[in-house]
Amino acid sequence: MAKIHELATVLADQIAAGEVVERPASVVKELVENAIDANSTQIDIYVKEAGIKEVTVIDNGEGIAAEDVPLAFFRHATSKIKDRQDLFQVNTLGFRGEALPSIASVADVCLETALQTETQGTFYHVRGGEVTAHKPAAMRQGTKITVTDLFYNTPARLKYLSSLQTELAAISDIVNRLALSHGEIAFALYNNGKKILQTAGNGKLIQTVSAIYGIQNARQMVSFLGEDLDFKVQGYVSLPKLTRASRNYISLLINGRYIKNKQLLKAVLKGYGSKLMVGRYPFGVIDIHLDPLLVDVNVHPTKQEVRISKEEQLADLIEQTIYARLAKENLIPSALENL
Ligand code: ADP
Ligand code: MG
Repeated sequence: MAKIHELATVLADQIAAGEVVERPASVVKELVENAIDANSTQIDIYVKEAGIKEVTVIDNGEGIAAEDVPLAFFRHATSKIKDRQDLFQVNTLGFRGEALPSIASVADVCLETALQTETQGTFYHVRGGEVTAHKPAAMRQGTKITVTDLFYNTPARLKYLSSLQTELAAISDIVNRLALSHGEIAFALYNNGKKILQTAGNGKLIQTVSAIYGIQNARQMVSFLGEDLDFKVQGYVSLPKLTRASRNYISLLINGRYIKNKQLLKAVLKGYGSKLMVGRYPFGVIDIHLDPLLVDVNVHPTKQEVRISKEEQLADLIEQTIYARLAKENLIPSALENL
């Protein structure tokens, strides 16, 4: 007798959610990445109880056409890539078409969206993968998504959540990194109505650095720029005397995507030579640009791990650029005159 059957869509989405939606910060990450991909210039994030109670993201981006709205909640449905060719040259943050169906399978999701060209927008409500409302709605151009009751139907996940403080720190961390990678977008983050971050969105990386690390710290950072035939690296790092107890405050960005990469992180630290005390780490942002063909972002569902061709060459460039810049530290005035 046949034993194999296809899983119900909601169940398949919940399985995918296991990888994509780990905690409230993952919801924030996915929603904000969508807002970035929609070419927004302003993204406002409101969370309640560190996102456990509610995550709302409002953008002024392109919006979703009325007929596309149901599709946005289908797994592997995306507007961002079409064929194999595109997969090797991804220039959006999303492309897997997994986030919205995953989130909607383990939470309550309200979406309001409108295109600029439409006279009215769409309201759509999905709870635990079931669509419960779909109607026209008044809305200005852009998208507003509200996620509540996260993990209401996956109790194990709910139990696994950390303290409010830890969950909020994770949200703040991801928003900081997204803001650093998109200086042209004005971000605001609020928890229980209290403002946690606001960036200017004027494209000046140092302004975002200053909004995140504080102006006093920003004044003690230096800018650097290095290039070879394949890579361009630029950014800001703290002087060796200004350190933290964790290496988590160094943000690596590749073509506008925040990534995690041990080898490149090590290269940054090596750039400090022997200037760092044991157990102390600098902070800053390393903005890397390269031909999209040199990086494979389709390694992990969250896309934070990527595979880089010529990674060693890139690591060398980072180390040497930072080393050379710090060697000149006393000769060049702070890069932050115009703060
Ligand atoms: P992906 O981002 O990988 O395409 P998602 O599930 O995150 O998949 O989103 C599905 C689709 O919904 C996107 O491809 C996009 O067309 C649309 N979408 C989602 N969020 C927004 C938004 N804030 N603004 C405009 N379109 C959006
Ligand atoms: Mg997405």
